[in-house]
Amino acid sequence: MKKHNYSAGPCILPQEVFEKSAQAILNFNNSDLSILEISHRSKDFVAVMDEARALVLELLGLEGKGYQALFLAGGASLEFLMVPYNLMKIDGKAAYLDTGTWANNAIKEAKSFGEIVVVASSKEQNYNHIPKGYSIPADASYFHCTSNNTIFGTQMKSFPKTNVPVVCDMSSDIFSRVIDFSKFDLIYAGAQKNMGPAGTTLVVVKEEILAKSGRNIPSMLDYEKHIKAESMYNTPPVFPVYASLLTLQWLKNLGGIAAIEKINNAKADLLYTEIDRNPLFKGASAVEDRSVMNATFLLNDENHAPIFDKMWKEAGISGLPGHRSVGGYRASMYNALPLESVQVLVDVMKKLEEVVSKENVETV
Ligand SMILES: *Cc1c(COP(=O)(O)O)cnc(C)c1O
Repeated sequence: MKKHNYSAGPCILPQEVFEKSAQAILNFNNSDLSILEISHRSKDFVAVMDEARALVLELLGLEGKGYQALFLAGGASLEFLMVPYNLMKIDGKAAYLDTGTWANNAIKEAKSFGEIVVVASSKEQNYNHIPKGYSIPADASYFHCTSNNTIFGTQMKSFPKTNVPVVCDMSSDIFSRVIDFSKFDLIYAGAQKNMGPAGTTLVVVKEEILAKSGRNIPSMLDYEKHIKAESMYNTPPVFPVYASLLTLQWLKNLGGIAAIEKINNAKADLLYTEIDRNPLFKGASAVEDRSVMNATFLLNDENHAPIFDKMWKEAGISGLPGHRSVGGYRASMYNALPLESVQVLVDVMKKLEEVVSKENVETV
């Protein structure tokens, strides 16, 4: 039986994506060739890349608005430096919101390119909330934020209004909720959190913000070169792009982002309601900033961990332990995780409460 997969990344994908991907490895489009052994310049693969890029813009509501979608390699982590390389003016500065480990890594890379203004940080509180009420310097080349903090389980529910270009790392919540994506000038996301397998990174960029830094950018790091080459400047990550396309098609058939958002909210409501109700558990992050994608929670009494761990494993759940910097548990409820899987977890939590209260009666 398939596990209830709460992995934070690489993550669960729709079963039909696994099946169609497997088929394409054996025989792609009835070509009697595997997708793994054909030219990326072949008609069949160019069609995959074109459709994937177009479908990204369609699902995000960005068609005809001056944006380009790219499928690059190097992970979201490479974007930490591609962003400043392409956008930070020489002798310029950039503004960053520090909401967690990934935001911090982005800041670290950007420091090589110019002055970094950290507009606010929740580091002192171990990133348990999203800072608010900060201001962004008007002379910054751009403002960078992380929409969902995968490790700490917090999520930005609103985004600041500013005249400087807004860059957002949406690795762990892209395509999960309706946002006005046209408010962003550059969005990037490692595929492996909510869109596909590891190996490709989606970049959605408004073309008009490029070519303003005055920098000489190495070709592989230059968004303009990738746009000009239609995301095939060199051999692209063929298979991750194909599997991502299948996931995007699945999402479109389901009714797009608005439809999945309802399901995602239902899953998060179900789990957070139990975390708040069950006296054995507590949430790890500020209630108003709780992530719909990654729910972080703790046992009030660590002594219950061995029995709880045994119970959820026996229930067929996988990938629940929290990141070492938070501890406890993290339930990652990406798009493809079914509501039934959350019900299984909630039932285990209720069962634990029963077992513990029985034990308490016996020891009295
Ligand atoms: C996982 C993650 C990253 C890093 O992604 P890689 O593709 O492994 O480089 C960056 N940002 C966020 C928000 C993430 O969740």
